[in-house]
This record gives sequence, C-alpha cells and structure tokens, in this order.
Amino acid sequence: MTTPLLEVDHVTKDYVRGGLFSRQNVRAVCDVSFQIDSEKPEIFTIIGESGSGKSTLASMILNLNQPSEGTVRFLGNNLSELRSQEDRTRFMAQVQPIFQNPFEAFNPLKQLDHYLFMTARRFTQAHDDETAMRCADAALVKVGLSLAEVRGRYAHELSGGQLQRIAVARALIPSPRLIVADEPVSMVDASLRMSIVNLFKTLRDDLGISIIYITHDLATAYYISDRIIIMQHGKVVEAGEAKTVLANPQHEYSKQLKNAVLIPLI
Ligand code: ADP
Ligand code: MG
Repeated sequence: MTTPLLEVDHVTKDYVRGGLFSRQNVRAVCDVSFQIDSEKPEIFTIIGESGSGKSTLASMILNLNQPSEGTVRFLGNNLSELRSQEDRTRFMAQVQPIFQNPFEAFNPLKQLDHYLFMTARRFTQAHDDETAMRCADAALVKVGLSLAEVRGRYAHELSGGQLQRIAVARALIPSPRLIVADEPVSMVDASLRMSIVNLFKTLRDDLGISIIYITHDLATAYYISDRIIIMQHGKVVEAGEAKTVLANPQHEYSKQLKNAVLIPLI
C-alpha cells in the first residue's frame, strides 16, 4: 500500500477561553480521523454548521495550529516534526490554502499581480521578473484568466468571484498536491458560486490535485464532493461517499441539514 497523501489520525483540539477566574475548556475538534489517498485525487468535503470545528480542523491540516492530541501526517511526515525552514517551505508548497474572504486575503493597497510574483519567487525557480510573470500567467490561465487582465489591478476593482479565482491561481503556483479551501464560496455571489466549485472539479480531474472543501452549503457539497464528513460540535457524526450520505443520512443532525437545504434539489 502506498503512503496516504494526508492522514488525520485521532485529532483533537482544545482551546482555553476566558480569564483567570473564568477559565473554560472548549473542545473545538474531537477525535477526528480520515485519510486521503495519494493516487486518487478527490474532493473531500467537511460540512457542518458554524462553530462545528471546521476551520480549526483546517488550520491543523495546514500546520497553522497544533493538535492537542492526535497526529496529522502529510505523505507520512508528522506535521509537528517539520522543524527546518526548508521542510516547512516544502510542505507549504504542497498544501495550499484558500480562505473565505478574498477581500481580506489581498491587501487593498497592493496590486494583485504582486501576490502572484511573490508566490512564484518563493516557491518556484522563477527568480527573475520574466520567469515570475510567465509563471503567474500560466496559473491565471488555469483558472480562466490571464496576466493581461490582472496586471496592475487592485482588489477593490474586482468582484469576489474574480478575486477568489486569483486566490486559486496563486495557490496553484507552487504545484500543490492538496488545496484546503475554507468556505471559499460563502462570500461569492450566488450566481458565481458554481463556476468556482466547477473549477475545483477541473483541478482534481486535469491537475490531479485533491481538494478539502469546507462548507456549510449542502447544495454545492452535494454537487462536487466525492466523500464527505459531517461535523457537529467538533465530532464527525457521519462519513462516507457523498452521494450515499446525502441521499440517505442516518444521523439526526444530517437529516436536519438535508431537510433544511437539500430537499428542493433531489
Ligand atoms: P467553524 O469553522 O465550523 O465555524 P471553528 O473551528 O471556527 O468552527 O470553531 C469551533 C469552536 O472553537 C467554536 O466554539 C469557536 O468559538 C472555538 N474557537 C475557535 N478558535 C478559537 C480560539 N482561537 N480560541 C478559543 N476558541 C476558539
Ligand atoms: Mg469556519
């Protein structure tokens, strides 16, 4: 058997909230385990209502946060043992994030192409301007844009949907194996959501990239997911093939989610 791309192995995260006399332990993520195969790219969806622990789990997969218990491994390497800057940079190149709010992800005072050039210089062999520009353009073409359209523009000049495409292009520059997208369409106009979500399918099918798609939106989850886990209060309450889970949910919470959102769709 080949080493999995990602192993989330009995991961728990506790936060301490409150002051000196009102300390409270919050278990944001509780004993979550799953694996993503390295040879079968997929869209793996984490769905759950606000506060269910989705972003905390994402931050541990991105190595931005350490589990209180359990282990996250990427291609067999325990993330908490990535010590050298070289190891961390190599990891970051392979596991790229896309965040919820593209207007926050890009500094309003910086031209958008600046981010693409910086990423190209940091993670690829593009050490001169011309190579960095070629690299940025190639990434933009993969998301249906081009450098000519983006050159010299600022975040406020573009729509949320266009910005999120640029965020995806930026994420593609280091040639990642995995993209962790935390509610990537919730700030995007409803009419443009499907085009972003379809882009994830293209990345999976054409570039062999696996996507962890985090959402509270059952409709897009149903449409694009290969597998799904449903989270409630930090725990996985249901897991499996997305079509099976969403067509016939077993857990009370999943049934409620489906009744609230999905009934009109299936
Ligand atoms: P979701 O992304 O599903 O909305 P989060 O992972 O953001 O959920 O939050 C899960 C729980 O952990 C919530 O109760 C939230 O208040 C708590 N939480 C998240 N981040 C922190 C933090 N840095 N400190 C304390 N509590 C946190
Ligand atoms: Mg969140």
